[in-house]
Amino acid sequence: MNKHPCIAPVDPRVSAIRQTLGERSIALVGMMGSGKSAIGQRLAARLGLAFKDADLEIVAAAGMSIPEIFAKYGEGYFRDGERRVIMRLLNSGPIVLATGGGAFIDERTRARILERGVSIWFDAEHDVLLRRVRRKNDRPLLQTADPGATLRKLMDERYPIYAQADVRVASRDAPQDTMVDETIAALHEYLQQPTARAKAQKDVPHVMSHSPMSHLPPRSDHLSSSTHQETLRVELAGRAYDIIIGSGLIETAGEHIARIAPGAACAIVTDANVARLYLPTLEKSLAAQGVRSTAIVVEPGEASKSLAVFGRVCDEVLAARIERRDLIVALGGGVVGDLAGYVAASVRRGSRFVQIPTSLLAQVDSSVGGKTGINSPHGKNLIGAFHQPSLVLADVDALQTLPLRELRAGYAEVVKYGLIGDKRFFEWLEADGEAVLHNRAEQICAVAVSCETKACIVARDETEQGDRALLNLGHTFGHAFESLVHYDGARLVHGEGVAIGMACAARFSARLGLCPTPDAERVERHLKAVGLPTRISDIPGWSDDADAILAAMFQDKKVERGALTFVLMHGIGDAFIAKSVAADKVKAFLVDELALG
Ligand code: NAD
Repeated sequence: MNKHPCIAPVDPRVSAIRQTLGERSIALVGMMGSGKSAIGQRLAARLGLAFKDADLEIVAAAGMSIPEIFAKYGEGYFRDGERRVIMRLLNSGPIVLATGGGAFIDERTRARILERGVSIWFDAEHDVLLRRVRRKNDRPLLQTADPGATLRKLMDERYPIYAQADVRVASRDAPQDTMVDETIAALHEYLQQPTARAKAQKDVPHVMSHSPMSHLPPRSDHLSSSTHQETLRVELAGRAYDIIIGSGLIETAGEHIARIAPGAACAIVTDANVARLYLPTLEKSLAAQGVRSTAIVVEPGEASKSLAVFGRVCDEVLAARIERRDLIVALGGGVVGDLAGYVAASVRRGSRFVQIPTSLLAQVDSSVGGKTGINSPHGKNLIGAFHQPSLVLADVDALQTLPLRELRAGYAEVVKYGLIGDKRFFEWLEADGEAVLHNRAEQICAVAVSCETKACIVARDETEQGDRALLNLGHTFGHAFESLVHYDGARLVHGEGVAIGMACAARFSARLGLCPTPDAERVERHLKAVGLPTRISDIPGWSDDADAILAAMFQDKKVERGALTFVLMHGIGDAFIAKSVAADKVKAFLVDELALG
């Protein structure tokens, strides 16, 4: 026996378990009192993994107890939040995770746990459980006249479901070290089975070399709707800034702005649609903090990203006596953000600016990363500058008034992040994509993951000398389509062009033998499922041929010395930059795409 307390005996099963587990986590499921926390902590220590308790994480994030969350928001709300927390924890690398008694009973949460983790059920007898839970007073489900009967009923309902876990361990009244040993033995045995090994290998995610989690502080999932907020920090030397994502942020924008720029005045640039809906709220919020503001309203739509409108907005900003230390605030979609950002980059050789993106596309993409600019008759976004905001406030409440078509268009950019380097995120979207279109909680989650991914890529490659180009997945195709419909939003909006472009990039990758055809089909299937276009023939009134599309592609910014650059895919979650793609291959592909119908 090893006498030295610091040196644990080497257990070959532990290294075998760690090796087969890879990036997957161990999720402990079972009834209250079955030992998930007590055995889980010791198990984690033996395996050299971190231990997390999902319930504790939820309570800390929500700032209230689980019974309080149930009472205030109901079980459905709690389960949604619980699923997000469990997803985040399961995605954070191999850990031992204790889940609440009802988590595995929820069908969607169970599906995620079975997909992404190795689940262990601590199966305890009725009398063992009753003895253990009677010692504790914090089990609201058992505060009944006959706790024994209540427990029996719960066990009858839940045990057939817990039995779906990968591994079953009988939880007895034995010393905890014995229980840990038995758990390790059962886990080891399970992981030796060929099916478990194959599943583990298949499910090991493609971890982005630039994993967002490693670059940004961990997010917290707040469950209370009034305080439901996530803050991400974009780390850029000397110009770090926060992206705050949540509800009610336009109402409280004044406080955030006064905090980052005390005493500053604001020029609010917005478009007529957004002004009607949100300008009074923003103005009121600024006035409440004593912030002087002037509103500059442009016409909605891509046409406002022009030199003429740019000139007018610059003049109005100067006329409003906005000085360098004051702020330009972009309140609107990507058009307003790009225009106002370029005005901010130019006026007085650079003024500070705040993004308050109100479209999904702007929240997940254009407001983050500092690309600003306007269009030229020669092409889209050809005039512009890199200019980082000082703050981004992404208020998901604004998405409630966004037309469904625009919401879907923004969703295309969300899918892009999954396709670039996060297969698990794509899988989550496949399962919960519809909710991202309609529910605030899923919207906050999707915006946060998207911004995290983008912020992380931008922090490494601010001016697109390398990896940042991955964010252009679908854009070489998409920009060509947009240009050939002359940016007519009635026929094609940017996100729709990106959706068709991503489907094209996936099919083109498959055709070149770079990506499995089923992956390309899966991309198309998901985009279609949320109502996005995926083929050139989906663009109303399309009449241009392959030569015209190719010519439009050569006009794109991504052309280097006459060679076409594409972002292609080795599979879902595994995009790469392909330089010097032969024009004849692209043309042959486009001819076939046009024939697809
Ligand atoms: P957009 O700004 O034109 O907004 C779409 C429409 O929705 C507009 O009519 C707008 O008035 C309306 N709208 C916006 N928010 C609303 C709300 N909350 N409620 C109701 N209506 C609302 O378009 P977009 O899709 O947000 O952005 C597209 C632009 O973004 C393009 O010009 C594209 O080039 C640019 N973009 C820039 C970047 C970047 O990194 N800078 C990245 C991607 C896209």
